[in-house]
Amino acid sequence: MTSYEDPEVRYTYRSTLVDQLRAEGEFQVGRIRLLMPQSFGFCWGVDRALAMVNDARKEYQGKPMWLLNSIIHNPRVNDDMGEMGIQFLKGKQSVPGALEELNESDVVIVPAFSAMVEEMEDLKSRGVKVVDTTCPWVIKPHKRAEKYVREGFTTVVHGTVGHDETRATCSLVRSLGGEFVIVHDMREAEILARYLEGTLDAQELLSGLHPQAVRKNFEPTPHLQRVGVINQTTMLASESRSIAERLRQALLKRWGEQELSDRFRDFDTICQATQENQDAATAVVDSSPDLFLVVGGYDSSNTRNLARVGDAAGVPAWHIQGPDCISVDCLEYRERHTGEIKTKKDWLPEGPISVAFTAGASTPDAILGQVVERVVAVAGESLGQEV
Ligand code: SF4
Repeated sequence: MTSYEDPEVRYTYRSTLVDQLRAEGEFQVGRIRLLMPQSFGFCWGVDRALAMVNDARKEYQGKPMWLLNSIIHNPRVNDDMGEMGIQFLKGKQSVPGALEELNESDVVIVPAFSAMVEEMEDLKSRGVKVVDTTCPWVIKPHKRAEKYVREGFTTVVHGTVGHDETRATCSLVRSLGGEFVIVHDMREAEILARYLEGTLDAQELLSGLHPQAVRKNFEPTPHLQRVGVINQTTMLASESRSIAERLRQALLKRWGEQELSDRFRDFDTICQATQENQDAATAVVDSSPDLFLVVGGYDSSNTRNLARVGDAAGVPAWHIQGPDCISVDCLEYRERHTGEIKTKKDWLPEGPISVAFTAGASTPDAILGQVVERVVAVAGESLGQEV
């Protein structure tokens, strides 16, 4: 692999329409104004992972090739993996029993989010060839968590229970004999903060968090004397900063300035692509578009958080998976608070409108381009030769 900008990957997933919109920034088509942020779509880590898959297919041609789980959180890209003959060991598309039968003749691709320590050890013990596409940005929270364990801090992860990256980080902490607490949002961080400042008891803390937010036998009193904060790389950056500050204030209140540095650590592990896409989305919704369409897999953390950028600006923001979510009278979307897939009728206003778009770090430009085309068509306009 000579470059992370693998031409084959770019060719497969590119869109000339999106290339042009990216260059223009905004474009008027009849009654509809299309607004594009300065940064969106495939990140460096995804480009790199897909390029590594391409290289592995050439190098290990003829060998059984497996993905430990989704390569990235986008259904189209995962379906493409299946069409290339790469099968899945875990998740919805997995082959039952395949994991237990792996041997030296198999090649296993570890996704960009990394894998649990136990999974990596199992692959090693079976002698399979591992192609590890873990994004270097995901290593950053791992390194910091290792440091926290070494220094006697419990790792507080702003992340999502069950997300592949956070599962991997927590398994690393566990394997080193450390402790972790996962807080998903400001509400859960507030529960932890109130325990840390002494206004909630241990039972109230544990019942307020997700049952898997801590490991079995976690004991708040000994394990929450010293805490270090990290973030899943794809969380909402502004929320991560607020959570760290709230926890810092709680410990300050409980222990005072003198003890704070011995009891609290904070390290921003949001990845650069997430930060840039969120900053660019913030800038585009600041222009108050009538709609903000956020395109990406429903299980994509960074895409979900891009939709929250629209909410924060008071702009109607809809997280959709692709062009099939759009019809003349109905829009299918993921409801942010409940995670339910819902539909909205009469979603496209009449008259002159502006529609801002963005796409998650795992969303191919080709899908975003199809979404733009569908929105323009539903608005009764035609891209024609204009773009
Ligand atoms: S979103 Fe960030 S951490 Fe995830 S693959 Fe892309 S660059 Fe890496």
